[in-house]
Amino acid sequence: MTVSSVPDARRNASPYLYGLEAAAVTRVLEAGQYGHTAVTEEFERRVAAFLGVPDAVAVASGTAALHAALLAAGVGPGDEVIVPSMTFCATVQAIVAVGAVPRFVDIAPATLCVTDQLVMEAVSGATAAVVPVLFGGRPVDLTAVRGELAERGIAVIEDAAHAFGSRTGTHRVGATGALTCFSFGPIKNLTCGQGGMVIPRTTREADRLRRLRLLGVVQPQDERANATTYRVDSFGLRYQLSGINAAIGLAQLDHFATTEHARRRLWRAYRDALAPMDGVTLVDADADRAVPHLCQVRVPAPLRDKVFAKLRARDIGVGVHYPPNHLQPAFAAWRRPLPATERVGEEVLSLPFHQHLTKTDTALVVSALGEALTSAGGA
Ligand SMILES: *Cc1c(COP(=O)(O)O)cnc(C)c1O
Repeated sequence: MTVSSVPDARRNASPYLYGLEAAAVTRVLEAGQYGHTAVTEEFERRVAAFLGVPDAVAVASGTAALHAALLAAGVGPGDEVIVPSMTFCATVQAIVAVGAVPRFVDIAPATLCVTDQLVMEAVSGATAAVVPVLFGGRPVDLTAVRGELAERGIAVIEDAAHAFGSRTGTHRVGATGALTCFSFGPIKNLTCGQGGMVIPRTTREADRLRRLRLLGVVQPQDERANATTYRVDSFGLRYQLSGINAAIGLAQLDHFATTEHARRRLWRAYRDALAPMDGVTLVDADADRAVPHLCQVRVPAPLRDKVFAKLRARDIGVGVHYPPNHLQPAFAAWRRPLPATERVGEEVLSLPFHQHLTKTDTALVVSALGEALTSAGGA
């Protein structure tokens, strides 16, 4: 298979394959390495080396990573977990899955991320963890309050599903001391097809995560073949990353320098093309540090839905990241007013953003956006 090409602006997001993934999967299938295998462990080592961390624990998805990380941090029933409402619903479902209460907080409209102040205002005696979301790939810096949070026994669990490869200072996200969760889903910066990774803070945490993802079964697989029983030591789930998916991730990681460069270049091409346009505000992706995951603009609320409909009618794959979670029926019990989130939720518009897009495509998207704004009455 050669480099796949879907050179169009119809998709909001799309995986980008470098041509080696299919061969890698075939090798794994022929070797029968379907489950948690040496390929999975090689992927863990390679990701750890890439990030500059001692260890990484591969799991089946980003959602599984968040769920497992919350369990490993000891978050459970009755605990409160501070989380922005402005995130993918998976972040909240993982908190609900451990029986904890999501304490929704607002965001800074410019970054779509939480701030020190917003987090600290929400801390209560019941707070067990904070889950900052690295929205669009932007690193979230809670260093100033990390000491205070640690003193109060509050864990920081980063939802870095958007942020694989992003940097804070000299470190990659994942290497800053927080328990960090990545997603390697189909449209993330690096894909395994489906997959996720947790960066543990301690060897104890790594050990807990490794038991958890294999149903709490402790014996090494090769010993199990000759034993009449196996030992279930603790609670666990089928959260392993299969060798099939890990092989895709390994092939993607070989080309991550290209991914990183291409995503930055694409975001900057949009930025430059959008600069002269009135009526929209580009959400800054912090592209010097972040590997951008999205290209978002804000369009004033009465126009956003019209502009969205007009662009979709022209087959341009715009999206909305995200409808706020505190307004979702499943999370209604924890609703509270979040003015910035509510406003931003009505204004954000994500432009097609993936590596198949050419300069011609982005120019087409931007001129269609301009036309949609004009005909919607905005510019
Ligand atoms: C994708 C995503 C997740 C969940 O990851 P999956 O691999 O899809 O389970 C969690 N949080 C955010 C912000 C995401 O974008």
